[in-house]
Amino acid sequence: MNNKKFENLVTDMLSLIGEDTSREGLIKTPSRVSKAYEFLTSGYDKDPKEIINQAMFTSSNDEMVIVKDIDFYSMCEHHMLPIIGKVHVAYIPNGKVVGLSKIPRIVNIFARRLQIQEQLTEQIADALNDNLNPKGVGVIIEARHMCMEMRGVEKLSSTTTSALRGEFKKHTTKKEFLSLIK
Ligand code: ZN
Repeated sequence: MNNKKFENLVTDMLSLIGEDTSREGLIKTPSRVSKAYEFLTSGYDKDPKEIINQAMFTSSNDEMVIVKDIDFYSMCEHHMLPIIGKVHVAYIPNGKVVGLSKIPRIVNIFARRLQIQEQLTEQIADALNDNLNPKGVGVIIEARHMCMEMRGVEKLSSTTTSALRGEFKKHTTKKEFLSLIK
């Protein structure tokens, strides 16, 4: 990212919203915002395949593996305002498992990009499905959208999306997944 250019844009934004960019509290704001955005959008140059390959192990386990309540923070691509919520990820191994700590890392790769909740859900499911080749994957996201809440479009509501692959399309598997994340 071109930090100087980004900082200049933030200074312009501050002027346009009517701020005095020379006042004490705002002097370092452009550089702070630039660093914050660099972090919040750091998922673009990361590859989930690399992370999964680092920690993929042979296993005879063929029971559902679940990592639930993974906190995530993203930003919507329409307003660049926060989307905050929890992700629940499950898969049924097909000879291979991935280190459990890698699952939140995969979530972050996609959360740290501009997103819509539906796409974030699909991307996490596909990353696991394509790289781990499990018998099935289920991803559920419950989230709050600041672009609705802060702008007064909707008060305190949570949006749920799901992406189901393979075995998770079967009613019994889906039901088991849903009961385990409650
Ligand atoms: Zn939005």
